[in-house]
Amino acid sequence: MTTFSTHEITNQPPPFEDLNLYTSDAALQEAVMREGGGHAARCLVAFGLVCGSADSQERARLANDNRPQLATFDHQGRRIDLVNYHPAYHELMQISCAEGLNCASWLYLTKREQDPVVDQQVARAAGLYLATQMEPGHLCPISMTHASVPVLLMQPSVAEIWLPKVVSRSYDARREPIEVKRSATIGMGMTEKQGGSDVLANTTSAEPLGGDGEYLLTGHKWFLSAPMSDAFLMLAQTAEGPGCFLVPAYLPDESRNGLALQRLKNKLGNRSNATAEVELQGAHGWLIGELGNGVKAMNEMVTQTRLDCAVSSTALMRQALALAIHHAEHRNAFGRKLVEQSLMVQVLADLALDVEAAVALVFRLARSFDRRQDEHAYAWWRFMTPVTKYWTTKIAPPFIFEAMECMGGNAYVEELPMARIYREAPANAIWEGAGNVLALDVLRVLQREPDIASVVMDDLADAVGDDPHLKAAYTRVQSILHEPRLLDGRARAFVEGLAVLAAGTILRSHAPAPVADAFIATRMGSLNRQTYGQGVDWADTQAILQRASPNR
Ligand SMILES: Cc1cc2nc3c(=O)[nH]c(=O)nc-3n(C[C@H](O)[C@H](O)[C@H](O)COP(=O)(O)OP(=O)(O)OC[C@H]3O[C@@H](n4cnc5c(N)ncnc54)[C@H](O)[C@@H]3O)c2cc1C
Repeated sequence: MTTFSTHEITNQPPPFEDLNLYTSDAALQEAVMREGGGHAARCLVAFGLVCGSADSQERARLANDNRPQLATFDHQGRRIDLVNYHPAYHELMQISCAEGLNCASWLYLTKREQDPVVDQQVARAAGLYLATQMEPGHLCPISMTHASVPVLLMQPSVAEIWLPKVVSRSYDARREPIEVKRSATIGMGMTEKQGGSDVLANTTSAEPLGGDGEYLLTGHKWFLSAPMSDAFLMLAQTAEGPGCFLVPAYLPDESRNGLALQRLKNKLGNRSNATAEVELQGAHGWLIGELGNGVKAMNEMVTQTRLDCAVSSTALMRQALALAIHHAEHRNAFGRKLVEQSLMVQVLADLALDVEAAVALVFRLARSFDRRQDEHAYAWWRFMTPVTKYWTTKIAPPFIFEAMECMGGNAYVEELPMARIYREAPANAIWEGAGNVLALDVLRVLQREPDIASVVMDDLADAVGDDPHLKAAYTRVQSILHEPRLLDGRARAFVEGLAVLAAGTILRSHAPAPVADAFIATRMGSLNRQTYGQGVDWADTQAILQRASPNR
């Protein structure tokens, strides 16, 4: 074949694979230990190896290149409403369920595993962070299933049947009634054509069937991810207001429920995960909680998935950064490695600062989910969940683009995962509360639960210490609270300012000085910057970059 070989390849980085995603990530390991997830360190080391393996990366490629396909009818015209996934998708599901990402926070409820209750969320968030870098799309059903448990617990008769199957490390993809399955996954159906953020505008209705909480649902859901889930938590209107219902795929008599899939969305990214439009044709649902309280019930699930969106966006940024640093460490341009060239060092180090800050924020938030009985943790959970989701999911898309640019043309080509990571990122921002909705949620706390906001603001006031930039940032954020136009004019400024301030205080207390100094000075100082790689020329960028390198 020598006649066709045109050249020797001398300046391309080695493949970025078979890397332990946990042990190669200093910021992650420190955050896990700091926030109480240290008990899971050994499992995370093992899982880091699985997620970073070449086999897992190949599964990710296959599950995304071979999108799920909808079969509405069989060859004789009977409705089957089946979504067929590539085998690699099922393997990914199996890996993540075995790790407990669908259930780890709740294993103590089943008494099958006597895990300590405290700090399971931190350990699970770390697992989710690693699994996102393996493949993010399959984590949609994993995240929804995990988040469904607090809602299921609101209705003991439903929980008795479903909890033992939902809280399980096994994955059972069979389309069978719950009674014969080893485990179950749960989806959520809120968004309709009329409204996604404004779910009260929706028209799907529920009529009571008898006195035992069974209802008939009629209507339509416009986005229903993971449509092969064993059941869905759905919102529907009743005479008493919106209710939350568990709508199973199969009925107790083993017949199929009235969920008719119309088509699958042709999405920008998130391609391994199917998202369907579905008609509810007299679908049977079982009431969860009280009639009229459906939105409140669903909020438990929504808050939990908002944490997952923040963790996922942070993980996507870490993955993009690691790819970019790996490339720069091996690629020569103009006679020197890219990583030895000043402008590139500044861009990469500057990117690394945002990952450090996002990691600090999301793991502090995860700890608050574990410790909600504590007043300070509760306040952080309620107030900082929308703040953290807002900031991490919003900075991810431009961040990933900058990391892509660091790798040049190779990153724009589909063989590397960067293009897929880039397409994936916006979904976390749109789903479970887009930016304005999150900002309005923060305002709601300020107006209706000002004591909760005060606890967080007081904690931050203590944490700023003597740092002049942090002090000034705190004063700026605090002053917005007293502006008359906060409600309609300054909500985003407040939320963004609060996220950056909170991250800065954690970094100041716990990160190496080069990281904390550079993040605080550039994100809270007077520099007016629109893109990365500015304002860090004075900083110890080598130290920042060395710490961030996946090849340390
Ligand atoms: C990949 C993917 C998967 C999804 N899976 C599911 C699923 O499984 N189940 C499900 O129920 N939904 C799902 N969704 C839908 C998603 O939750 C909604 O798209 C989201 O809640 C936004 O709703 P919407 O699309 O109706 O937009 P809208 O509610 O119309 O919002 C549009 C914009 O208006 C802004 N806005 C809204 N209200 C205000 C206001 N008062 N003031 C200022 N701005 C405002 C929002 O921030 C947003 O930017 C999925 C979406 C995606 C992209």
